[in-house]
Amino acid sequence: MINYGKHSINQNDIAAVVDVLENQFLTQGQQGPLFEKALCHYTGAAHCTLVNSATSGLHVACMAIELGKGDILWTVPNSFAASANCARYCGAEVDFVDIDSTTRNISVVQLDNKLLQAQQNNALPKALVVVHFAGISCDMQAIRALCAPLKIAIIEDAAHSLGSQYLDKNVGNCQFSDIAVLSFHPVKSITTAEGGAIMTNNEKLAKKCQLYSKHGITRDTELMQGASEGPWYYQQLCLGYNYRLSDIHSALGLSQLSRVDEFIHKRRVIAAKYFDRLQNLPLKLPQIDNIDSASWHLYMVELTQHNRAEVYEALHANGIGVNVHYIPIHLHPYYQELGFEAGQFPVSENFYNHALTLPIYYDLSEDEQDRVISVLHDILAE
Ligand SMILES: *Cc1c(COP(=O)(O)O)cnc(C)c1O
Repeated sequence: MINYGKHSINQNDIAAVVDVLENQFLTQGQQGPLFEKALCHYTGAAHCTLVNSATSGLHVACMAIELGKGDILWTVPNSFAASANCARYCGAEVDFVDIDSTTRNISVVQLDNKLLQAQQNNALPKALVVVHFAGISCDMQAIRALCAPLKIAIIEDAAHSLGSQYLDKNVGNCQFSDIAVLSFHPVKSITTAEGGAIMTNNEKLAKKCQLYSKHGITRDTELMQGASEGPWYYQQLCLGYNYRLSDIHSALGLSQLSRVDEFIHKRRVIAAKYFDRLQNLPLKLPQIDNIDSASWHLYMVELTQHNRAEVYEALHANGIGVNVHYIPIHLHPYYQELGFEAGQFPVSENFYNHALTLPIYYDLSEDEQDRVISVLHDILAE
């Protein structure tokens, strides 16, 4: 079976992990700070807080901007549930902005309209979580221009987009946002098994992210109330969580990060071949403008004439493990119970109903991709 996504681990990755196991601290040693520094260097952001998943990172990001009860967070329906759940962890309300059918990212037009309406109703969101879907960057300049005057915090859910570029700079630099959150889950650009990172250029936010992801505990005497009682001393300043990433995971991440450009290059080569070889099929392909700036975390097609379930089954029967991203968040029972209804976000729902995620990952061979393409031709030509 050819899966839709898969990690790539080489001997250097393994050696890096083994070295930690044999010679170093397993957690809170050198590897974490080194990985944080490397992520700052790669993305261009000033500060990095490692966490044990992007989900934890989104939660901490919401805490850092002081999202709480009575506040509203907006995100898009076509994402992994974590993009919205982060608000619920903080007791805040969630609402959604529909996507653009071409980019599959948040629709700037819809955002503009919804903000205007919210302003009139005195119900503006405190934060907006944008998702660079499949690794194609959102129009951050336009989003920033709409949100900044209204003091709405922008959090980039950049789980898909380590290695993507926006305006010729790496995504994650936070030039147009307050915080960007990365994921190192095995199907993402690089992996630490589980893991994530919170990037920001704002020192105050960075300090809060450190605090909230480490029990709310500090050893920094400048942050303490009163004097330190000695070198052993620490204080818990607020209620935080144990969301730390271990040094075993960080060593893997550091090694993987040295391969990220190679990973993304291969994904772009695979995407280019899909664009070339699928163009005559009854499929809506992703926006090609982004061929050399997207990370191509996902390569998603929309069926224009065929039944999605049937094509999905036929591909699986032929050993092609296509997937579907995502079940719109507002259609999950948990969100339905909060009052959301089918039909509220038609562009996201329509995309979901026709979407298929084709295999794309570093170790996908040319033969394997050729097979995916030829089986697709066979099924769709019928
Ligand atoms: C994978 C993913 C997450 C969650 O990442 P974890 O590291 O698994 O917690 C959040 N948002 C999006 C868009 C994702 O794809």
